[in-house]
Amino acid sequence: MEIKKGIAVSPGISIAKSLIIDSEDYRIPRRSIKPSQRMIEIQRVRNAFKTAIDELTEVQAGPENLEQGKIRDIFAVHLRFLRDRSLRKKITDLIHSESVTAEYAVSATLREIAQHFSKVKDTYISERATDIYDIERRLLKKLLGHKREDLEHINHEVVVVARELSPTQTAGFNKNFVKGIATDAGGRTSHTAIVARSLGIPAVVALEDFTESISAGDTIIIDGNRGIAIANPDAETIKQYQAYSQEFTQLEHKLVAIKEKPAVTRDGVKITMLGNIEFPGEAELVLEKGGEGIGLYRTEFLYLNRPNEPTEEEHYQAYAQTIRVFKHRPVIIRTLDLGADKYTQSKRFAPEPNPFLGLRSIRFCLQNLVMFKTQLHAIIRASVLGEIKIMFPLITNLQELMQAKMILRDVMEDLDEESVKYNRNIKIGIMIETPSAALTASTLARGVDFFSIGTNDLTQYTLAVDRGNELVSTLYSSADPAVLRLIRMVIQDAYKAQIDLSVCGEMASEPQYIMLLLGMGVRTISLATPMIPEIKQIVRSVTIEDCNNIARKILAMNSERQISTFLNDATRKILPEAF
Ligand code: PEP
Ligand code: MG
Repeated sequence: MEIKKGIAVSPGISIAKSLIIDSEDYRIPRRSIKPSQRMIEIQRVRNAFKTAIDELTEVQAGPENLEQGKIRDIFAVHLRFLRDRSLRKKITDLIHSESVTAEYAVSATLREIAQHFSKVKDTYISERATDIYDIERRLLKKLLGHKREDLEHINHEVVVVARELSPTQTAGFNKNFVKGIATDAGGRTSHTAIVARSLGIPAVVALEDFTESISAGDTIIIDGNRGIAIANPDAETIKQYQAYSQEFTQLEHKLVAIKEKPAVTRDGVKITMLGNIEFPGEAELVLEKGGEGIGLYRTEFLYLNRPNEPTEEEHYQAYAQTIRVFKHRPVIIRTLDLGADKYTQSKRFAPEPNPFLGLRSIRFCLQNLVMFKTQLHAIIRASVLGEIKIMFPLITNLQELMQAKMILRDVMEDLDEESVKYNRNIKIGIMIETPSAALTASTLARGVDFFSIGTNDLTQYTLAVDRGNELVSTLYSSADPAVLRLIRMVIQDAYKAQIDLSVCGEMASEPQYIMLLLGMGVRTISLATPMIPEIKQIVRSVTIEDCNNIARKILAMNSERQISTFLNDATRKILPEAF
């Protein structure tokens, strides 16, 4: 039994067999198989070699030109290696003698050869090590690629274990079969974590080297409440967790009743509770959980998991589907937040050195006007269907906002020319998720109808801590005084400018922050759908006067640790189950 502590990012308990997704970009850990599976693994090696040889032979047969000539020479060397029977034998012998996976046998054998080459004094030979690593990647891609396809067609319950998952991969999981997620990498507000939460799949991230100790088919327990992953639990532990899982389900059932009750504090102040969604189909779930509209629709997920860009009609249908669920309630459509960890196919092949500081979000849209206008057309057309609002992400200065609004006006003029009806007074807002936007909120407020505070990015950019990097995850905290001061400033500026304000970052989904947010003056929150009942329970258990006192005390504190402890203690008194 191996118990590992990571970061809890999506609540719930799951117990199932592991399905490991390795990546050719990372070292493949040694994984054992049952002796009866050896022939299957050997056949997989043979298939991978055959596909790789076919692929390279095809390139060799391609049209002649100078560039191709150089590539041909390199691939000729690769082909010679791949056709070398003794190499294949070495790999299959390893599977036979040590009962390890095909991936491990390929990787271990080729790396050993590469290391051997790199030590040779002759530069020609030592440089061949690079070729060997290339061949390793090519073979692993084949082996792992099949596994990824298997995942798409999976038909039994599993816990997915991976070093790292992208939001795109996670969004493609079938939650009927993927019962839990455990990753070595990741942070609390990484987009992968957010997707897991919105799908309602229990998940733990930042487990360091958990993948290295797992073999395919091991039993795994995911405790998404406490951030624990257990491999090969003993019978007693399984029994304990089954009981705990039942308790958790009972709590969820208990909270179902709260759906019909209003989100009003004990002293009668109404709090508007909206849901965050990634896909239009999730809107139904928001309604089911008692949400009053959509405060953040992350539309970039329309772009992921597909080879081409969505058409205007596809955008329109997605927005129409959402607004159908919330006919007379607000639906805030955030324009594309592509870039950083959510990239389109073409970007995958041209990664940026610093993607979170690079061509992301509104910057990406302002440089890809055809794509941006396609989306704006669809949103504006859909604006007659209900209370649709438009929100621009990652604004860092007034000029960006002006540019985005100018393009929106262009789109409206186009629609005028086409005599298409739309809501001329559609509300326009921005996300406040950079320190620069927070510091200039009073200026930006003059150009918009509302602000929504994106605490995930605001925390990341204020503290200079990558929100998805487990190595610095202990430094990532929205309870940091610097983050809280910026939030307070934005709230005050929104009040002064008399514009609407909401919080849509994960802070609004975390029980310990709710009293503080209410005490700082927040009256609208948009949160992860599964958390709506629990957060409503907190809202209904507090008075604004208590919240104001808490906020006053917190804002006078100078240490994150002190603030976190204070907030956890205060919340535990109200909703002990949350801990
Ligand atoms: C945020 O940054 O807080 C936010 C809500 O946007 P996202 O998580 O999609 O970056
Ligand atoms: Mg953001």
